[in-house]
Amino acid sequence: MVFLPQEVIAKKRDGHALSTDEIAEFIHGFTHGTVSHARAAALAMAVYFNDMTMQERVALTTAMRDSGTVLDWFDLDGPVADKHSTGGVGDNVSLMLAPILAAIGIYVPMISGRGLGHTGGTLDKFDAIPGYTTSPDNALFRKVVQEAGCAIIGQTADLAPADKTLYAIRDVTGTVESISLITASILSKKLAAGLGALILDVKTGSGAFMPTLEKSRDLAQSSVSVANGAGLKTSALITDMNEPLASAAGNGLEVRNAVDFLTGKHQDARLR
Ligand code: URA
Repeated sequence: MVFLPQEVIAKKRDGHALSTDEIAEFIHGFTHGTVSHARAAALAMAVYFNDMTMQERVALTTAMRDSGTVLDWFDLDGPVADKHSTGGVGDNVSLMLAPILAAIGIYVPMISGRGLGHTGGTLDKFDAIPGYTTSPDNALFRKVVQEAGCAIIGQTADLAPADKTLYAIRDVTGTVESISLITASILSKKLAAGLGALILDVKTGSGAFMPTLEKSRDLAQSSVSVANGAGLKTSALITDMNEPLASAAGNGLEVRNAVDFLTGKHQDARLR
């Protein structure tokens, strides 16, 4: 059968579930330039209004994962795992948790994001360190994970590139706030990182991207179902983000707070 992107868009517009093949073809075409940004924006809006089943979400997530390189870590001698936070004001946990996990023999190849809404992103915090490279090539990423046990970087050009472009389109078309699209976006990158296990810290409250408990619960349930459905062992916690975690808010200050935490100079009780 001939694949027509407009038929896929219209099917979702009319509230029907898309097949795994339709989603895979759409994302493949989008990745290779045969499905235009206008069509991707239209599909994103149709998903925003009509949502996706868990099966569709798994299909979208795996299609976006497969749009680029999928890393493997078979040469490492320990478990490979990661934690992902949906982000909150003063949430600098990743900066400490990755080295803490590395210190007990867990490898952490962490692909982080930038700020969303009023919440800061881990990458923005790292950009406060002069000389820190948040976009190394895959060879350098691998080398650092192997040698240091952890590396925190941004999405490189060849890790889930379909998500990178689709996210930019969602950002300017009012379609970021879709649980289905957020789920696929976060998890496509985590799956491309080749993890063995993942824990999600889904924040809730006024300092979080997800302001209500109900929405946070939806995102947690969606992410756990889709990640496990795509073969990645995952669980989630929903945690309070009505107050900053660190006694610092601001990229450079949160980095300093994390270093003080790790060296034992100062540890905020709430953060600990
Ligand atoms: N973080 C992501 O990576 N994608 C989203 O859609 C939202 C948050």
